[in-house]
Amino acid sequence: IKVKDAFFVKSASSLEETTPEGISEVAFIGRSNVGKSSIINAFTNKKGLAKSSSTPGKTRLINFFNVLFTQEDKTFNVQFVDLPGFGYARVSRSMKEEWQRNLTRYIEKRVSIRVFVHLIDSRHPFLESDHDVHAYLEKLIRPDQKILRIFTKSDKLKQSDVSVIKKHYPDALLVSSSNKKGIDKALHAIFEMLFG
Ligand code: GDP
Repeated sequence: IKVKDAFFVKSASSLEETTPEGISEVAFIGRSNVGKSSIINAFTNKKGLAKSSSTPGKTRLINFFNVLFTQEDKTFNVQFVDLPGFGYARVSRSMKEEWQRNLTRYIEKRVSIRVFVHLIDSRHPFLESDHDVHAYLEKLIRPDQKILRIFTKSDKLKQSDVSVIKKHYPDALLVSSSNKKGIDKALHAIFEMLFG
């Protein structure tokens, strides 16, 4: 599979402002600065598509991108959704307050979401906030939805760090948007979850 084209659709600050339901969505979730914009740009091969939020936690909008996959002679239309990064503070108990209400409403009510891509900084693979987010998603997902963990910034790891992650998560997808390692494999994993 390949990404043939990708373009920005719109930004929304609430569920009401989102695009109509229909096209299958891949929702990207992660802490601020995890490398979310970078990986969306790497997946789509478009450098400036998703805008990096230089100020952690500043991006508060839900951004929609239309992505066209091709496999042999078939075309698949998917929506990538860049969700606001959650902050450095613990998310745990008060997640609904910490995370904007609109964001949780989107996550919980949006029918079109098929895959949640949970991005985790591979240098800090066992943060409580990521654990909490994963537990939160596991609890709310429907049978037709899936969660995919992707560990970002793998170029920063030593082999021993990789081993620790692989021990806890044997199928861990380790990806670097900087050197593009793991990008194709992760994109295939997303595609398989959508259409496999
Ligand atoms: P976002 O806030 O989650 O959208 O994160 P960004 O994509 O803006 O990335 C945050 C910072 O991490 C930026 O300084 C990026 O250059 C850096 N970054 C993103 N991906 C990688 C990566 O794969 N490797 C390295 N070394 N740095 C990365």
